[in-house]
Amino acid sequence: MEPRVTEDNLRMQGCAVVTGGARGIGRAVCESLASAGCNVAVNHSSAGSAQIAADFARSLEERFGVSARAFEADVSSFEAAASLLEDAACALGPVRVLVNNAGITKDGLMMRMKEEDFDRVIAVNLKGTYNCCRAALPGMVKARQGRIVNMSSVVGVFGNAGQANYAASKAGIIGLTKSLAREVASRNVTVNAVAPGFIDTDMTRAMSEKAREAALSRIASKRLGRPEDVANAVAFLASDAAGYITGQVIGVDGGISL
Ligand code: NAP
Repeated sequence: MEPRVTEDNLRMQGCAVVTGGARGIGRAVCESLASAGCNVAVNHSSAGSAQIAADFARSLEERFGVSARAFEADVSSFEAAASLLEDAACALGPVRVLVNNAGITKDGLMMRMKEEDFDRVIAVNLKGTYNCCRAALPGMVKARQGRIVNMSSVVGVFGNAGQANYAASKAGIIGLTKSLAREVASRNVTVNAVAPGFIDTDMTRAMSEKAREAALSRIASKRLGRPEDVANAVAFLASDAAGYITGQVIGVDGGISL
């Protein structure tokens, strides 16, 4: 007899938490994970994005037959990140996958960069990744099962003029990923990073036409990436098939780093 898909047995499978999951790359990641049968906690940052996130979670349920919910949390807050992981586990089952995707830019040349712009980018991108990992790890280690995927960037590997704060946060994520991977590999928890190049989202749409063209000229594939290009790599790293891959940084950049 076919097992019945009920809220209860869906819950038993646990869930994936995707920070910044309602827009851009995070949204595509949620869709990839849901299409693979994963329950998904869609995190968003504020009341302003609540409706979009709730509608999106409902559409994941309708399209993919999984459970999905929206959760508001500013990941730069240690307490908010802890509540996010706890609330997601209560609603959707144990957190098996964490995708630290939430990220912001506040660009400017270092000579003019305001202290608050440096601090905020580090707080959301790097500290937010620490906050969510810290909250997810006890459950994963206890269950001897977990997949963490952190969103870095080619900019974290090569640097970029005008993005010292962002590059520092994304390079920091690589160091965090490799260190944490060493700590928890023996507990069947993998920790990897994805380093996208230029992906067509709100973040890159905010670039000047000149900066976009300069980026395009350096991409071997001669096109910007799509959110789905990144989501496919994340979904693979989150899958059972990637159980022996840990501490790696996977470039998804159309060859910009060649
Ligand atoms: P995006 O379209 O601007 O989306 C950013 C996401 O982060 C939004 O969902 C936003 O949620 C969320 N977010 C921002 N601050 C947050 C906070 N304090 N707490 C929780 N969520 C927060 O950007 P994207 O291009 O999809 O980027 C996603 C990730 O990929 C980022 O880490 C980015 O650095 C990285 N990345 C992007 C590119 C690219 O070319 N696009 C390249 C390399 C790396 P709300 O909508 O609720 O504010």
